[in-house]
Amino acid sequence: MTNLVTNLAAAVEEYGENTAIGYQGSETSYEEFWGQTGAFAAALEERGVGADDRVAIYLPNVPPFLIAFHGTLRVGGVVVPMNPQYKAREIGHLLSDSEAKVVVTLSDLVPFVTEVQDETSVEHVVSVDGDADGATALEEFLEPADPDVVDRADDDIAVQPYTSGTTGQPKGVQLTHGNLASNANAASKLIPDGIRPDDKSLGVLPLFHIYGMTVVMNASLFNGGAFYPLPEWDAQQAVSLIEDEELTIMHGVPAMYNDVINQPNAEEFDLSSVRLCGVGGSGIPVEVLRKFEELYEPKVYEGYGLTETSPITHFNSPIEGRRVGSIGKTVPGVESKVVTEEFEAVDPIEEGPIDEEEADLHDITGEIVVSGPNVMTGYYGLPEANEEAFTEEDGTRWFHTGDIGYRDEDGFFYVVDREKHMIVTGGYNVYPREVEELLFEHEAVADAAVAGIPDERRGETVKAFIVPTPDADVTEDEIKEYCLTNLAEYKHPREVEFVEELPRTTTGKVQKFKLREGDDDDSEVAE
Ligand code: ATP
Repeated sequence: MTNLVTNLAAAVEEYGENTAIGYQGSETSYEEFWGQTGAFAAALEERGVGADDRVAIYLPNVPPFLIAFHGTLRVGGVVVPMNPQYKAREIGHLLSDSEAKVVVTLSDLVPFVTEVQDETSVEHVVSVDGDADGATALEEFLEPADPDVVDRADDDIAVQPYTSGTTGQPKGVQLTHGNLASNANAASKLIPDGIRPDDKSLGVLPLFHIYGMTVVMNASLFNGGAFYPLPEWDAQQAVSLIEDEELTIMHGVPAMYNDVINQPNAEEFDLSSVRLCGVGGSGIPVEVLRKFEELYEPKVYEGYGLTETSPITHFNSPIEGRRVGSIGKTVPGVESKVVTEEFEAVDPIEEGPIDEEEADLHDITGEIVVSGPNVMTGYYGLPEANEEAFTEEDGTRWFHTGDIGYRDEDGFFYVVDREKHMIVTGGYNVYPREVEELLFEHEAVADAAVAGIPDERRGETVKAFIVPTPDADVTEDEIKEYCLTNLAEYKHPREVEFVEELPRTTTGKVQKFKLREGDDDDSEVAE
């Protein structure tokens, strides 16, 4: 049986004295961590919270996140992770939709919970960093007792993260013990000799998001490794932690890699202790990958996946021969293919990536669909969304990723862009990623994003938002000219705007809706 609790228990049994968590200079062993999760589980039991009850974790990356996460699973509960950047309005929906009974949070965030508590089923608010009105401090909440063992089957729900809600209300993604354990185990085996008990992982990717939660945190905990949480991204701080603790595993989103190479002292960073650099969450521009690997020894492994797929479905390993610009091959145990709107399989091309200027992309692209033990059971209480998300074919349930891509005969997949980011301008389709890749090659560009903005004549027009490098001397017209010489005319940005920074989610994705609307309204639901 693949169950998250038995996986952790096995690691505790085998690596009891190893460090499970390293945080701000102190270390917690596996045995100590097991005791802490037990005390949290016993506290839930004591308050009548048990199997299938929802416990919301509304925290940045701090050790109590891990305690509440694994403590909840030990009573058979379901974790609802919530972005700590969310405000009352955003968590209100998540808490009422999930019917969470408990919220574990920081004292500063407690007021957001109490503001909406009346409209929800929340009975207990726990503050992990001391007293706050309306909350119980974690030390008072914990029960120094052993919880009962609750058996969980593969298909019991373990975690219910929410999509970020770019198309309507956020949807609760029901992930089972089987989904998450299979992916954490698959993720641990993707590198040569797997994740080892002597590995030390940088824990800066947000734990409320599936990438940080499964691929980094659980893959480390299930293999006896040490996990070093960092509550927020700061390139200097992250690199210092890697250097000081000699971390061996570093995962990040492309924006983090770009940030590292753009630091003024980037050439002095020593990342030689790192044996695995993983990237995912969005496509890493080829130029960013090239510069990073030019500066530092470790090669970058690119993974692809979604919350709904727990997450990894594809993996591009530099060791086994990768194709730069590809998301790699389907991971063992998972199946995927590219299909047309009529759900007909699209033929692979000979070898990729292809020169998009020469090929007619539309004959070779389609939507990437996947199936496997990692695919969610469905969205919580949303039969219509489930109907749309899946296609049943000869007994196989295919999940629609919403990503446009193609594949080559050797099994490498390529993501062209997200379907919903496609710009239709004067009847032509433009995928922003292609234009962004080109912009990253320009020496004056530190960061870039491309989006479609409304245009009376063309429906939409291509606009580039650019963060210039500190000493750049470049004009908007020069950027337009550069794109025009390298791209078909309809793809080049007719508008260019220089900005100080791009609006991003905590998982490093550019919030294109904010660029399009040209506002910075915090009350927007994050993309
Ligand atoms: P929502 O679905 O609500 O918009 P989201 O985008 O934050 O939320 P995630 O599950 O975090 O949802 O992201 C999944 C998407 O991330 C994929 O569908 C794909 O578009 C993108 N993605 C992830 N890894 C890669 C990669 N290596 N290359 C290209 N795109 C990627």
